[in-house]
Amino acid sequence: MSHDFSVRAPGRVNLIGEHTDYNRGLCLPIAIAAQTTASVRVLDDGPSRITSAQQDQPWVGSAAEAAPGRVSGWAAYAAGVLWALAEAGFDVPPLDVRLDSTVPLGAGLSSSASLEAAVAVAAVTASGRGLDDGLRTELVAACRRAESEVVGAPTGGLDQTAVLLAREGAAVLLDFDDGEPADVPTGFVEAGLDLLVVDTRVAHALTDGGYGSRREECERAAARLGLTSLRAAGLDDVARLDDDVLRRRATHVVTENDRVRAVVDALGARDWARVGTLFTASHASLRDDFEVSCPELDLVVDTALQAGALGARMTGGGFGGSAIALVPSERADAVRRAVDLAFVAAGLGTPGHLDGTPSRGAGLLT
Ligand code: ADP
Ligand code: MG
Repeated sequence: MSHDFSVRAPGRVNLIGEHTDYNRGLCLPIAIAAQTTASVRVLDDGPSRITSAQQDQPWVGSAAEAAPGRVSGWAAYAAGVLWALAEAGFDVPPLDVRLDSTVPLGAGLSSSASLEAAVAVAAVTASGRGLDDGLRTELVAACRRAESEVVGAPTGGLDQTAVLLAREGAAVLLDFDDGEPADVPTGFVEAGLDLLVVDTRVAHALTDGGYGSRREECERAAARLGLTSLRAAGLDDVARLDDDVLRRRATHVVTENDRVRAVVDALGARDWARVGTLFTASHASLRDDFEVSCPELDLVVDTALQAGALGARMTGGGFGGSAIALVPSERADAVRRAVDLAFVAAGLGTPGHLDGTPSRGAGLLT
């Protein structure tokens, strides 16, 4: 196909800081190598047309026709961005956008934010704008608005920020209490470490109810402590909660924020064993106190640790999706093989393996 230009936008994994976003806490995502690409043509007149190699039905329409309530299914993520950009005052010409993605859909690696960012970068590039940090921040807002209002899936912005603002080799430290994202170089590549991403390819039906009830439990725990959020709580406060479930949920959130800070320090000190220990402690907290893991995620983590990983944990909301493992490069093949064998032995389907090398945020494909 003849085209004017191409753009790319990565998926993401969260290194640590899970279920902290809606508690005004901390998290530390990276962009990964898997990505959505968009091949873009600027049209002389409308309507715009968006197709995806992962979906049968194209979307055809104007930005106004992608307003909340007017578009559903996958097109809400893609065309919703055109609507949100128009709402934000961007003058986007009619486009033909052909999308293709290596980010597995629904695996907790943010295929949705990857798709949104690809459309957003395509649109602003077509309107003649060059990408700088200020524009990237505006695109984060437009992609969030598309997902919250057009798709109808409220999002705290972790995914969109990682996918649009990450720098190669670095994680993004996000503080949901004050906003400004900060770069945190990981040093993984220089240290000969691989970050393995394992997609369990399971999504347990519990997901929606489970997520909503965790949010609600966190709000109740904070309210009982007389706080607006668990961000302000310490472990001494949490110990005062007489409800066992609320105390364990709050314990996870408070200790997880501490672990995010500790991982940032350990990365700075190049203390990889400590980074790994903190990952594994995060998994135990999500499994035992927050209760959002599942047998498949636990199996990946336990197997990776036995096969030589420095640390491993579920990543994303839980109840399925993906896990990560920090592994010396020479052990990477052995860890992947051990995970595959463990899945066979447990009678589970074959998991997917992805490259978790910290990658750069969305941009022009050159
Ligand atoms: P995740 O973001 O973790 O992969 P979500 O449920 O948030 O999972 O988003 C998945 C949805 O995003 C898909 O069901 C689909 O509607 C849309 N989507 C993601 N990637 C693509 C793609 N390449 N083409 C079309 N739609 C996509
Ligand atoms: Mg998503």
